[in-house]
Amino acid sequence: MPIAAVNPATEEVLQTWDPLSDAEIDGRIRRAADAFASYRVTALAERAQWLTAAADILDSEVGEISRMMTTEMGKTLASARAETLKCANACRFYAERGEAFLADEPVDAGAVGAVRAFARYQPLGPVLAVMPWNFPLWQAMRFAVPALLAGNVALLKHASNVPRTALFIEELFRRAGVPEGVFQTLLIGSDQVERVLRDPRVKAATLTGSTPAGRSIGALAGSELKPSVLELGGSDPFIVMPSADLDRAVAAAVTARCQNNGQSCIAAKRFIVHQAVAEGFQRRFADGMAALVVGDPLDEQTDIGPLATEQGRRDVEELVADALARGASILCGGKRPERRGWFYPPTVITGVTPEMRMFSEEVFAPVASVFTVADVDEAIQLANATGFGLGSNAWTEDGAEQERFVRDLEAGAVFVNGMTTSYPELPFGGIKQSGYGRELSAHGPREFCNVKTVWVGEGRDDAGIDRSE
Ligand code: NAP
Repeated sequence: MPIAAVNPATEEVLQTWDPLSDAEIDGRIRRAADAFASYRVTALAERAQWLTAAADILDSEVGEISRMMTTEMGKTLASARAETLKCANACRFYAERGEAFLADEPVDAGAVGAVRAFARYQPLGPVLAVMPWNFPLWQAMRFAVPALLAGNVALLKHASNVPRTALFIEELFRRAGVPEGVFQTLLIGSDQVERVLRDPRVKAATLTGSTPAGRSIGALAGSELKPSVLELGGSDPFIVMPSADLDRAVAAAVTARCQNNGQSCIAAKRFIVHQAVAEGFQRRFADGMAALVVGDPLDEQTDIGPLATEQGRRDVEELVADALARGASILCGGKRPERRGWFYPPTVITGVTPEMRMFSEEVFAPVASVFTVADVDEAIQLANATGFGLGSNAWTEDGAEQERFVRDLEAGAVFVNGMTTSYPELPFGGIKQSGYGRELSAHGPREFCNVKTVWVGEGRDDAGIDRSE
């Protein structure tokens, strides 16, 4: 099946490509392995310069790049611009911090009977990255920048609906001066991933995507004994307690649910509100959601563009219909607009119960479910009543409650009085069915490294006798 770029706002097919043949895939893997042989010994300072050059390109071409993403997957121009600049920032962050993150880690040599002992971070080789479409530039760069910094080379299998961005990323690194073969985009379908991952020249894998795709890549990588990082779906709780600043909480709730047209892994999806403030929160939240402008993502006035795929809209319509059929109520939205494109309006639902699919499945669209709880214990219990464990948000001015949430929420991150977001400075990743491994911060570049133990004893004496024990 051809790989196609389709504008989700107009349903127009922009361009198509044939997926790579088996022989072409083999050629790309060979090139990656050849490139690794010399790239692994390039100086870190040189890699940092290439990242800085990539940042300069992203900064100076932000307009064009953003338009490409908007027309390919429907995010608003403002959000595409923010994504592009965030990538530039990450390139600069790692260009500046790389030396520190990957420096040899000394250990107490005397304690281990050595003259010198330390741990050294060394790259593994070609890494396969399987990436999603929702932040088409950021997701791939979030993996690639730290991995390349550490001396690995990358093979990107991007989501099939963002081929233009996928090809752009390869071009970006080439134009930034990164040696040929160090970053390659493979335009292939998901059915060709196994072939790449089983190739002995490919040393590790990372997938950002849905939990089912994660299971598949995790199982494959496991059967080949190759390390993997899995960044999967989420159904983040957003807890509001009576002491919270309600104005800020409501504003953040709307943004947290609707960012990227509601298609973010760390979007808040379940709003868990203390009964003392439930009525006020619910009303203001629904008003805020209903006030968002749904429309052409190229229009600067638009808050919410279309969903990225027709299937994505079908999925959310099924989840909403299932909830309504089992007794849930709608406060706003819930009905697709009469227009071309895969639009779906901001929607707020109450009365969601465990037998509804929405209770346990990820809703990848601007649809929020709101729950009312009696106290902090019930809030935590409901927040954790999910298979996912990516991010979490808690709004409270009460120090003891803040500590409870930090201690007891089962998630890879907890944001108190702020919405979950990612920064290069902070580790990013999940637990439970949201995956394993960490990206960003010092953890990102180290995930695809051999932490090599180096122990150096005393040398031989003049008589050639080894004196080290
Ligand atoms: P997806 O359907 O799982 O696809 C993600 C990538 O995996 C695509 O490149 C896809 O290729 C590939 N893929 C799918 N099934 C596969 C399989 N069985 N074997 C090998 N590759 C496979 O997810 P999506 O719809 O693109 O993205 C949305 C999901 O990603 C949501 O669940 C979201 O929460 C999650 N996500 C997680 C994070 C995080 O950091 N935790 C960040 C962003 C998104 P094709 O496109 O060719 O099918």
